[in-house]
Amino acid sequence: MSSAATLSGRVAVITGGASGIGRATAILLAQHGARIFVGDYRLSSETSQALGAHGITASTCDVRNVADLQRLIDGAATAAGRLDILVNNAGIGMVKQIQAVSEDDWDNCLDTNFKAAFFGAKFAIPYLVSAGGGSIVNTASNAGLLPRAHDPVYSISKMALIGLTKSLALCHSKDRIRINAVCPGPVIDTGMMNSDLAAAIDPTATAKQFIAASPLADAHGRMIRPEEVAEAILYLVSDAACMVTGTAIAIDGGKSLGVPPRS
Ligand code: NAD
Repeated sequence: MSSAATLSGRVAVITGGASGIGRATAILLAQHGARIFVGDYRLSSETSQALGAHGITASTCDVRNVADLQRLIDGAATAAGRLDILVNNAGIGMVKQIQAVSEDDWDNCLDTNFKAAFFGAKFAIPYLVSAGGGSIVNTASNAGLLPRAHDPVYSISKMALIGLTKSLALCHSKDRIRINAVCPGPVIDTGMMNSDLAAAIDPTATAKQFIAASPLADAHGRMIRPEEVAEAILYLVSDAACMVTGTAIAIDGGKSLGVPPRS
């Protein structure tokens, strides 16, 4: 994948880049030569400094707020003089059954996981057109491929995100804009997984359940690493993927394939 090794001269905005998959992606794309602008609503000065050590510019942005999102994207494109890549990665979980879901819960989850990707694309596309083409990657989930009983609102948000990916991919191929999704399985060292494990009565047993539900994670005896999702995003934004659009690539160790064999 030689052309994946160079993103030199490319400019990327990554939302939710302060931790987990977004942070790993920001660092990997920066290592491949891209100029990176991260937006996150939880941004400590330590995190900004740590990202700055990789040449990454970080700023506070709440992606649920459309004006904030536009400021992030316009600001990056203005500072760098162009924009080539958008990674809509910010996301939150929602482990609640329907009777417990308030309107605020719904808005919070859907605005973060779905609405922000739509408006992020809206604001990024004119810059990508000016650049002669570009790439948008949406961080969906295995829950977007196969809904899960424990988190219906999250599953709905990620299924909608995959629908958005395919629909916009169809609309903007003519502009040489490629729009794809990655669908991670259980990823260790992320805020999302850490809070799931912290909420569990027996975190060790829960971690084992996460691993057991994903056939390859089970075979490796570990969860997926943020860097392993970042590698897929690197491929999708690189010229190596110049004919790839509208896909939803599962980086889930086979979790969304079906029910794994009994051990
Ligand atoms: P994470 O919590 O480490 O990262 C999510 C980031 O998004 C955080 O830095 C958070 O501050 C930021 N964020 C959340 N809401 C925001 C908002 N309104 N505005 C700006 N930033 C906001 O967890 P992660 O696992 O790295 O999550 C990244 C993506 O991966 C999410 O979209 C998540 O749904 C998806 N995902 C994660 C897993 C997993 O097992 N960790 C599995 C499948 C999909």
